[in-house]
Amino acid sequence: MDKDKTNQEKKPIGARWEEDQPLVMPGIRRFQFFTNVDDRALTKNLNRLAMFGIATVLAVDVGKAVVNKNPQTIYCYECRACYSTQDKCPVGIQYQAELVVAARVSDYDRFCRNGGLKCIRCGSCQSFCVQYLNLAQIFGTMQQQTMKALRTGKIPERIIRNAFRNGLINRDFIDEVTEFLNKGDSV
Ligand code: SF4
Ligand code: SF4
Repeated sequence: MDKDKTNQEKKPIGARWEEDQPLVMPGIRRFQFFTNVDDRALTKNLNRLAMFGIATVLAVDVGKAVVNKNPQTIYCYECRACYSTQDKCPVGIQYQAELVVAARVSDYDRFCRNGGLKCIRCGSCQSFCVQYLNLAQIFGTMQQQTMKALRTGKIPERIIRNAFRNGLINRDFIDEVTEFLNKGDSV
């Protein structure tokens, strides 16, 4: 009793000693599971900083998809189950998940490279999506945004030119794209 009292008197503020800790099972006290605050003085706010960073990135990611009017893309797991579409895609698009991710962050280069402007929005790939996302609608919205960005000069010409050369533009957009590229050639 006296020894305990002496220990309590000597204990620095904030320190957690073994005798303070409850037994969680015979021979094991709680502090063995939780780091003593004093032992991590330099890093005690690291977890808060990390959580703040993660929350900020998530907010930007979600916010961007909402602003781009393609909020469904937030729910994509990036599991790539939709790649099973394979020859059920009438225009031979292989990587539907790439298009969804590109739509989420408005990455026009990634969208065009993976055949986003070739998609005819038939919806065949939707039955393979584990999240039942309306892929045709997602791709259609991103196509409209891509064309709008093209008109307003927000897309470097090489992105569209490469898609054109690789036959990745469907008939809905081919006239406008051809006109755009011809204009560039004549300058
Ligand atoms: S919606 Fe587009 S990507 Fe999906 S199967 Fe149809 S053409 Fe292919
Ligand atoms: S199957 Fe659906 S959830 Fe999975 S990557 Fe494809 S679009 Fe995203």
